[in-house]
Amino acid sequence: MPLSRGARHDVSGVATHRALVGVFLGEGSGRAVVVLTAAAALVRTAAGPIGPFDVFAVVVVALVFPFVEWCIHTYVLHKAPGRLGPIPFDPSRAHRHHHRDPGDARWMMLRWFQAGFYGVVIGAGAFAVVGGLVSLLGGDAVGAGATAALAGIAGLAAYEWLHLLFHSGVTPRMRWVRTMRARHRLHHWRNEWHWMGVTSSLGDRVLGTLPADAADVPRSDTARAPELVPTD
Ligand SMILES: [Zn+2]
Ligand SMILES: [Zn+2]
Repeated sequence: MPLSRGARHDVSGVATHRALVGVFLGEGSGRAVVVLTAAAALVRTAAGPIGPFDVFAVVVVALVFPFVEWCIHTYVLHKAPGRLGPIPFDPSRAHRHHHRDPGDARWMMLRWFQAGFYGVVIGAGAFAVVGGLVSLLGGDAVGAGATAALAGIAGLAAYEWLHLLFHSGVTPRMRWVRTMRARHRLHHWRNEWHWMGVTSSLGDRVLGTLPADAADVPRSDTARAPELVPTD
């Protein structure tokens, strides 16, 4: 069944941050992550004063998030279509469209309900894991859990914004963002099995997909034409 998401929306010519913010908020996912981040900030504010365990919560999320991002990009978004028992299973369909036409916003960002669902799952997961750890350490589990949820949801918002930014015509102001943009473009134009991180290269660095020199990685025929990937 073909995916239908209306007319092609090329953002590669969008050249200013202001115009790109308009594109971001014009997409359901952009609005969903802004609303979720604001809601999580309100919950954290209501949960009481900030303490050292909030710093701990942010550090844990900042260390775990890049690996979650790496695993989802590698094992879900680049998974060849297959079957789950009798049911066709193809979680990478939209991402294959994105690799075929990287400038088209329709395949770049999540759908609003996906962003909402993932945001809630990330927030709940971060709350449970970090809240549980802090409870074992004798700290304020609810406060630290709420901080972890906020950090995780903000990470999803950062992912959506940075990915859009990388495919736009806007030159990022910050150097690390320009570096991440260059790596993401290598993922698209050189080899889709390297440079998997969007918000961070920590996963790539630890898991061996951040080559010291891009020339060491062979050019892949399937980076722009993922339909050529053999399916089983
Ligand atoms: Zn991309
Ligand atoms: Zn990809």
